[in-house]
Amino acid sequence: MTLPPNVYDAEPIPEAAREEIERLLQSGDLFRYTAPEDAPVTLLETDFAEMMGTRYALAVSSCSAALFLSLKALGLPRGARVMIPAFTFAAVPSSIVHADCDVVLCECGDNYRIDLEDFHAKLPNVQAVIISHMRGHTSDMDAIMKACDSAGIPVIEDAAHSLGTLWNGQKIGTIGKIGCFSFQSYKMVNSGEGGILITDDADAVARAIIMSGAYEHMWKKHKARHGENSNDLVEALERWQNKLPLYNLRLSNMSAAIARSQLPELARRVRDGRRNHDRVAEIIEQSPWITVPAKLEAEVRAPDSLQFNLEGLSDDETRAFQDAAAARGVKVQVFGMSTDNARAFWNWQFITDLPELPKTRAMLLRACDTRLPARLTVEQCQTIAQALVAAAEDVMGQVKAYGT
Ligand SMILES: *Cc1c(COP(=O)(O)O)cnc(C)c1O
Repeated sequence: MTLPPNVYDAEPIPEAAREEIERLLQSGDLFRYTAPEDAPVTLLETDFAEMMGTRYALAVSSCSAALFLSLKALGLPRGARVMIPAFTFAAVPSSIVHADCDVVLCECGDNYRIDLEDFHAKLPNVQAVIISHMRGHTSDMDAIMKACDSAGIPVIEDAAHSLGTLWNGQKIGTIGKIGCFSFQSYKMVNSGEGGILITDDADAVARAIIMSGAYEHMWKKHKARHGENSNDLVEALERWQNKLPLYNLRLSNMSAAIARSQLPELARRVRDGRRNHDRVAEIIEQSPWITVPAKLEAEVRAPDSLQFNLEGLSDDETRAFQDAAAARGVKVQVFGMSTDNARAFWNWQFITDLPELPKTRAMLLRACDTRLPARLTVEQCQTIAQALVAAAEDVMGQVKAYGT
């Protein structure tokens, strides 16, 4: 029997990064604002803005930091209500708590995306929206932007796990006012820790730059996308000079050099990740006990993990499926069944008056999560897929036999 692959190891850091890392080790030049110009963090920002087609990018210590700074950049008053999908990572509501705002949770459907009925019902009572494209599943951005634009409500995209995803041909993260990405090791670009926010709004990025820790006149080292005039940015930065608190959420040159070296790898990772995902989905969908929710029409996905739903399994059978898959060498996490899961909203007990969201809860109790990194071969993916199908049979085949 072929053993399933290790899905936790990351890809090696590209050879191209070695020279820059060696230079940083030699010089000890790790702080982004020491070099007079072209520090690795600045180059990451200008390259990333260029790649995404936005005017500005600000690299910071994590996507969570980017989300927090985005909220602060919007200038929301204390106690402002910010809506997020109830299916997201605990860091997302946390960023709202840090920004002294209140969390409003929106129901998600069994396709992992925002439930638009609940979204429209709650929108009139919020001042901002963060759309988490959780595990790279894009919510209906046409409907969301139409509603938010007509109500004058700013949208921040949490595209932490969506680098390379397209919506109607447009890059995810460029649709809302601000887009945020993660460079944590399980995302498409891995620098261990790190994040970046992108926007076309000079005022928003100026505020975020200063609050991220560009004290005194460090901000003079920030630039617009290659070849773009930075006058708007400079004017905005001068306007906000000394008016904002510093949170010091900067990225180091070492992390930036590592992240930057992977930007040329992105297209391949996206292509291979999609191939792997679609191959596994095709196989496991043959099982009567498994469904893989379809992507939305406008979406071209960039997955590096796989989510699927168990159909017709009880709680005990769902737990038995996790165990059977583990016994076959594939670790599956049912979001709502694993203890203290950071993606199950009922564990976010730092939120006061935590609401009940029955649709999202029902989804989380049957939704399975498996890593499926882009570096896997199609053969390795097939091994994983076959193990999942067999694990469902281990559990449900037996139950059927008992019934006869
Ligand atoms: C990973 C992730 C985050 C947090 O990113 P960090 O860089 O670890 O702070 C936020 N939202 C989503 C959807 C994520 O996948």
